Amino acid sequence: MRDCLFCKIATGKVHAKIIYEDENVMAFEDINPQAPVHTLVIPKKHISTTLDIKEDDSALIGSLFRIAGQVAREKGIAERGFRLVSNTNPEAGQTVYHIHLHLLGGRHMHWPPG
Ligand code: 5GP
Ligand code: ZN
Repeated sequence: MRDCLFCKIATGKVHAKIIYEDENVMAFEDINPQAPVHTLVIPKKHISTTLDIKEDDSALIGSLFRIAGQVAREKGIAERGFRLVSNTNPEAGQTVYHIHLHLLGGRHMHWPPG
């Protein structure tokens, strides 16, 4: 989608520190990390919010979780623990309207979240 930041990252038009990429999924470092590990996992396909996920996207969404776990293992935080977050719409703090999982870890995660 034109003018979508994460579509531009997915197509290489905007630079990001990419740590995983396949045909459908990309993982890259968040530009403003909130934890020692803060990686974003996105589908290359544009989906604006979690409310726009269709049945046909089920395997793709599953891949986001699978790849997030793979990145957590590679970064050595899998056993300690990590958090996967997906914000939807303004009150949850969504700022980029292309779905993404935040993979957060490397420090203690508080609950309830802020
Ligand atoms: P949201 O607020 O939508 O849940 O998450 C968007 C995330 O994208 C934020 O954590 C923000 O720091 C990150 N972000 C915003 N612009 C860029 C950018 O240009 N490059 C990268 N790598 N991350 C970005
Ligand atoms: Zn997009």
